[in-house]
Amino acid sequence: SLSRPSVIIVGAGVSGISAAKVLAENGVEDLVILEASDRIGGRIQKEDFGGVSVELGAGWIAGVGGKESNPVWELAAKSGLRTCFSDYSNARYNIYDQSGKIFPSGVAADSYNKAVDSAIQKLNQEAYHSGDVSKVTELLSTPKTPIELAIDFILHDFEMAEVEPISTYVDFGEREFLVADERGYEHLLYKMAEDFLFTSEGKILDNRLKLNKVVRELQHSRNGVTVKTEDGCVYEANYVILSVSIGVLQSDLIAFNPQLPRWKMEAVEKLDVIVYTKIFLKFPYKFWPLGPEKEFFIYAHERRGYYTFWQHMENAYPGSNILVVTLTNGESKRVEAQPDEETLQEAMGVLRDMFGPNIPDATDILVPLWWSNRFQRGSYSNYPIISNHQMVHNIKAPVGRIFFSGEHTSENFNGYVHGGYLAGIDTSKALLEEINKEKERENESQALL
Ligand code: FAD
Repeated sequence: SLSRPSVIIVGAGVSGISAAKVLAENGVEDLVILEASDRIGGRIQKEDFGGVSVELGAGWIAGVGGKESNPVWELAAKSGLRTCFSDYSNARYNIYDQSGKIFPSGVAADSYNKAVDSAIQKLNQEAYHSGDVSKVTELLSTPKTPIELAIDFILHDFEMAEVEPISTYVDFGEREFLVADERGYEHLLYKMAEDFLFTSEGKILDNRLKLNKVVRELQHSRNGVTVKTEDGCVYEANYVILSVSIGVLQSDLIAFNPQLPRWKMEAVEKLDVIVYTKIFLKFPYKFWPLGPEKEFFIYAHERRGYYTFWQHMENAYPGSNILVVTLTNGESKRVEAQPDEETLQEAMGVLRDMFGPNIPDATDILVPLWWSNRFQRGSYSNYPIISNHQMVHNIKAPVGRIFFSGEHTSENFNGYVHGGYLAGIDTSKALLEEINKEKERENESQALL
């Protein structure tokens, strides 16, 4: 029918916006974007904190300086986004014990190299046993001491590239840049949106973008898709691009009618969701070391991941007096469930272990909630190390008129902004092909009449 938009895009994160842009550029202008929250950007989100703009979600442009050019780096260059070079490979030389002593660099380097060797061995064994972790011999050293646990955390939660090749760094290069722009990382999305949506004075006014529309049901058949939102609205389209996170797909936020086929559900269930939380703390003055190779520092504790990974923001915003500590998975969920005041006390305890009892209390804290947010349910996807091509294929394969997008559908770059960006482009290209095929089929049947 003529009145319904041909494509509805669910989600206005980087993948939804890049998908919509490709469709619009290829003549599919009758599209509608339904976004659950009150903004575009999704997991790219800035917030004003302590007088500067901090990134609650994606913070780095990862993979720069290699043989191929990272498309997100290009977008950043084009829109003049302010970034600064950031290198956490030195973090291992700033590991504090609980009495505030820094481990000698020789000790740290040895433990690090041992951990890398053991991780590689383990990976090889898993590969040998086709991913069956239970067959991996327990002889391999498991981290036990605080420094071993700290290094295990840095290695597995930050520097996987040391253990296995990661396409982002192999293809695009090993450098990483921290976004330090008052307009936020999300400025890149507004620049993209400007190309195909009506904007005025920095605001998107195009009524094809509908905010605060929580999709709860997708009814799909051979003829089209009906989308129902929480506020009782009903939208119809020929096709849907679903760009919500893997965490949302695993939750029951969106009902499918008929249900998704088994091969799709199984793939969705198997994909791991990583929770990654950056906690921001504002101080009246600096008490941590500055200067080259001091941007990152580590706290070694007998509990793995307990306020382990720290960063100061002086390179990005000199004089901001802000520290960032990163928690993951279990620790993220634990902290999300408790009052911020408790988290502040815990973080201060850790800082006093490292820097002594006389440091000032933080005057403000910001704890993003990526796990409890029902429009996210986690920070990004993680394919099991030994995952086969079939799993990625099933994650991104369309089901009838529903096409899937989002960082988790990117075979090589899942978990990154450029993964989401490229996934949006891929999904739209696949959909455009399908639309053309459908047109040809229609023309053929018309000709027969
Ligand atoms: P999203 O951005 O999640 O977009 C999906 C959209 O769908 C959201 O806006 C959501 O509100 C909406 N939605 C959900 N449910 C519904 C519904 N039912 N109805 C309507 N709309 C719905 N990447 C990097 O490259 N570098 C980094 O340094 C980095 N760090 C990160 C740190 C954190 C804390 C997090 C969370 C992520 C980080 N990432 C990083 C990953 C990167 O942010 C993501 O890969 C990327 O932004 C995902 O984009 P997306 O479009 O796939 O999903």
